Amino acid sequence: MVIGSGLAGLSAALRIAAHRDVVIVTKGRLGEGSTSWAQGGIAAAVGPGDTVQAHATDTLVAGAGLADASAAEAVCADAPGVIADLAALGVEFDHDRGRIALAREGAHSLPRVAHAGGDATGRHVIAALALRARRHARIAIIEHRRVEDVLVDERGVHGVRLADGGTIPADRVVLATGGSGHLFARTTNPHGATADGPALARRAGAALVDMEMVQFHPTALAAGPSPLALVSEAVRGAGGMLYDCNGEPVMAGVHPMGDLGPRDVVARAVVRRARETGREVVMSLAHLDPDRVHSRFPEVAALCASHGIDLARDPVPVTPAAHYCMGGALTDLDGRTTVPGLWAVGECAGTGLHGANRLASNGLLEAAVLGRRAADDVASGGRSPADGPRTDPARFTPGEADGDEVRGAIGRIMWRGCGLERDGTGLAGALDALDALPRPADAQAAGLLEIARLTTHAALAREESRGAHFRSDFPDPDPAQAHRTCWAGDTPTAVPSIDLTEVA
Ligand SMILES: Cc1cc2nc3c(=O)[nH]c(=O)nc-3n(C[C@H](O)[C@H](O)[C@H](O)COP(=O)(O)OP(=O)(O)OC[C@H]3O[C@@H](n4cnc5c(N)ncnc54)[C@H](O)[C@@H]3O)c2cc1C
Repeated sequence: MVIGSGLAGLSAALRIAAHRDVVIVTKGRLGEGSTSWAQGGIAAAVGPGDTVQAHATDTLVAGAGLADASAAEAVCADAPGVIADLAALGVEFDHDRGRIALAREGAHSLPRVAHAGGDATGRHVIAALALRARRHARIAIIEHRRVEDVLVDERGVHGVRLADGGTIPADRVVLATGGSGHLFARTTNPHGATADGPALARRAGAALVDMEMVQFHPTALAAGPSPLALVSEAVRGAGGMLYDCNGEPVMAGVHPMGDLGPRDVVARAVVRRARETGREVVMSLAHLDPDRVHSRFPEVAALCASHGIDLARDPVPVTPAAHYCMGGALTDLDGRTTVPGLWAVGECAGTGLHGANRLASNGLLEAAVLGRRAADDVASGGRSPADGPRTDPARFTPGEADGDEVRGAIGRIMWRGCGLERDGTGLAGALDALDALPRPADAQAAGLLEIARLTTHAALAREESRGAHFRSDFPDPDPAQAHRTCWAGDTPTAVPSIDLTEVA
C-alpha cells in the first residue's frame, strides 16, 4: 500500500505495480499535493560540463555539514535516469535549441534545473504520472480517504486505519504523505501539508530525524491569506532582484551570490530589511523583457495577476514562508524506516540528503529517486530488521477541542516562536503555549500538535545556528553539534549507525 499520491507516492506505486498489485490511498484527489504546485523544476546533472559529483558537492555544501554524503551521491547519481524515466512516462521537459533547457537556481554551481511548461513543472509531472496510475491494471486507487493510523504489532506493520474508522490490511506500507508546512501560520504548502507522515510514523513507533530543520522560502507573494503563492527562485535566477522600499538592493553586501544566495540567508535578509524599514521588500523584474518574463513564468505571472500585480512591470511584494521540512521519518536509502514493513519516501522522510538545508529543486528529485528505490525494495521482499530504534506505538486519545482552532493556534505559536529566527526564550515559550493548548477531537490536529512539539524541542536542543536553523542566541555553527539528531520517544539521540539495508 502507498499512502499519498504526489511524485513520491506515484513513483513508488508505478514501479511496484511492475511486479505486484498495489493500492494507493490518498486523502484528496489523485495527484493533489505539493508536487503539483512545484514551479522551478528537478535538479539533475544533465547539462554540458556538469557532473554527478558537482551536483552532490553543491548538495553537501547547502546541507551545512549535516547532509549525508552517501545519500547525496546516490540521489544525484540517479537524477539523470529520473529525468529520462519521467520523459518516457510522458513529461515534456522544456527544450532550447534541441537540448533540455536548464535553469540556474540558488546555490547551484551550474544551470541544472529541468522544467516543464515554463514554471508549471509539478503540474506536468503529476498529469503524466496520475494518468499512468489510473490506467494501470495492478493499481487500485482509493481517493478522498485519510489514513489515520498505521497498524503495527511486534512483527511490524499489518494494515492501516482510515479516518472514517475502516481498516485495510497490508504488510508493506509506503508513507508518501508530503510536507508539514501548516505547522506554521505562513506557508507556501497546500492545505494538505499537515505533517501526517511524521505523525503516522511516530504513532507507529518509528524514529524521526532532523525535525528542527525547516526551510523558509524567502519569496512568497505577500498577498492574501496562507497558503501564500510562491515566487519561485527561478525568477531570481532569470534576473529578478530584491529591493527595499527606498529602492536599495537588499542582498548587496550580504552574500557573494547576491539574490541567489542560500535560501536561509536571503530569507533572513528580507525579514530584517522589512523590520528596519517598516515596509515590505519587493522583487523587481522591470529591467527584463516583459514578454520573456510572461512566457517563462506563466504560473507565477497568473498567481500575481490574481492579486492585481503584473509580474513583469510591478514591484512584487514578498515575504518568507515555511516551505520545506528537511526532517521526517528516519530512513535508509531504500526508504526503510525503523519499523519493519514501513517505508517513508519524499518530503515526509529524512534520508539525510538535505542535511540542514535543501538545495533548490532537490525536493522533487528526492521524491522520485526514493519512490523508485523503495519500490524496488518492497517488490524484492525487503523489510527492516525488528531491532531498529523504536518507541511503543502511541494511540490517539481524543479531546473535545475544535481541530481547526487548534491548528490555527499551532500555526501562530510556531510562526512566532519557532520560525525563521529562533532563540531559547521564544522556543521555551512556544513549548509552554503548545502544551497549554486543549486536546483536539481529531487525530490529524493531534498529530500536527505532536509534531509541532517535537520540532520545537529539537530547535531548543540545537544550541547553534546551522543551515535553515538560526538561533539569535547562538548565531554561529558549533562543530561539536555537527551531527543529525534522531528522536525515538522524547529523547534526542545521534542517528543510529544501523544499516537498514543490510538486514533483509
Ligand atoms: C509551491 C511549491 C513549490 C515547490 N517547487 C519545487 C520545485 O520547483 N522543485 C523541487 O524540487 N521542489 C519544489 N517544492 C517542494 C516539492 O514540491 C515537494 O517537496 C515534493 O513535491 C513532495 O512530494 P511528495 O510526493 O513527498 O508529497 P506531495 O506531493 O505533497 O504528496 C503528498 C500526498 O500525500 C497525501 N496525503 C497526505 N496525508 C495523507 C493521509 N493521512 N492519508 C492519505 N493521503 C495523505 C496528499 O493528499 C498528497 O497526495 C515546492 C513546494 C511547494 C509547496
